[in-house]
Amino acid sequence: MRKKIVAGNWKMNKNAEQTTELLNELIAQVSAEASAEVIVAPTFVNLALAVSQLKSTNISVAAQNMHQAQNGAYTGEISGDMLTNIGVNTVILGHSERRAIFNENDALIANKVDAALSHDMTVIFCFGEELKDRQSGNHFNIVENQLRDGLFHIEAKNWEKIVLAYEPVWAIGTGETASPEQAQEMHEFIRETVRKAFGSDIAEDVSILYGGSVKPDNAKEIFSKPDVDGGLIGGAALSAKDFLAIVNAI
Ligand code: 13P
Repeated sequence: MRKKIVAGNWKMNKNAEQTTELLNELIAQVSAEASAEVIVAPTFVNLALAVSQLKSTNISVAAQNMHQAQNGAYTGEISGDMLTNIGVNTVILGHSERRAIFNENDALIANKVDAALSHDMTVIFCFGEELKDRQSGNHFNIVENQLRDGLFHIEAKNWEKIVLAYEPVWAIGTGETASPEQAQEMHEFIRETVRKAFGSDIAEDVSILYGGSVKPDNAKEIFSKPDVDGGLIGGAALSAKDFLAIVNAI
């Protein structure tokens, strides 16, 4: 079933004290009737804290990444088992910062998707073109390839565990948002690409989030587009006031 979702990707921000503070503000103000599912993704070391603080609220917790192996000699890494064991059942994979700064490619991301699904986790699968791709008119190809090579190997039954997050790299942290029309055009293309590969039911049911400089003053217009089912929010998720305004814009 297609859902409205607003997720906050906190990236490498907020220590434990600041995490508690921001979550308390969100808990006080995300109403039980919020029309979107609300997810927050604090950094690894504060996930357990967030799970405990958000127990019996309608806000859920996601990790920003995970390793593809079950366990083993991977110094510095975190497995799906470790996440689900502390109550984290959602993970962001394929974020453009993981791709660009940490050299994650589609094949690696595909393995991470499999590992997450093997733990019955929900995957927020991120993808999106760079500025040069859009300038050269290659953005639809890039997006289609990222979907095909990172995600389309999954079995049809696993689509209920997938949320798509289109994040054009040129719009991330730059203050330059895709226009609502650009977002809708790409989201429609993404849904059509899913439809061609997996059929109409899956394409209609999958939630497609937009990410890239979503702010309180542009959220409503972006979210009003028929194929935009919510947002993956970076900078504006670090302020309770801004994040709540975005949640309420759905
Ligand atoms: P900004 O909202 O800061 O542009 O970040 C978007 C993002 O990368 C969310 O994952």
